Amino acid sequence: MATAALANTDLTKNETLVFEALKDSTGPMKAYDVLDRLKDHGVRAPMTVYRALEGLEAKGIVHKLDALNAFVLCSHDHPHQVQSFLVCSECGMVQEISPELQEASPVEDKILGVVRASGFQMREARLEMKGLCKDCANG
Ligand SMILES: [Zn+2]
Ligand SMILES: [Zn+2]
Repeated sequence: MATAALANTDLTKNETLVFEALKDSTGPMKAYDVLDRLKDHGVRAPMTVYRALEGLEAKGIVHKLDALNAFVLCSHDHPHQVQSFLVCSECGMVQEISPELQEASPVEDKILGVVRASGFQMREARLEMKGLCKDCANG
């Protein structure tokens, strides 16, 4: 198992467990969902999961979705400041807008351009676009 995000990053044992749980998940996971999954691995303390999630987030491997209070794996192969997500309010699907989806007009570049021009020192930005996914819109 080798993703680009993991290749040059050292993860703690617990971060690796949380990473694996998120990788196996089809959608975003709340911290207690992760805890539930890791009980078989001997992880019982919520703090252990929170710390591991924080660590993964700091390393740019996981994003936190504020509106859902849930976590997803990053779909990029390197940490990035501007994170944009499509969130379906019907089925809960979350898709990170990856470089392949952005094609010729990268959302990230535009936002960074505006921020740079204003002289603001941005740490990160997260866009959560809510609506209906293709399946729910057609259903
Ligand atoms: Zn990402
Ligand atoms: Zn949907």
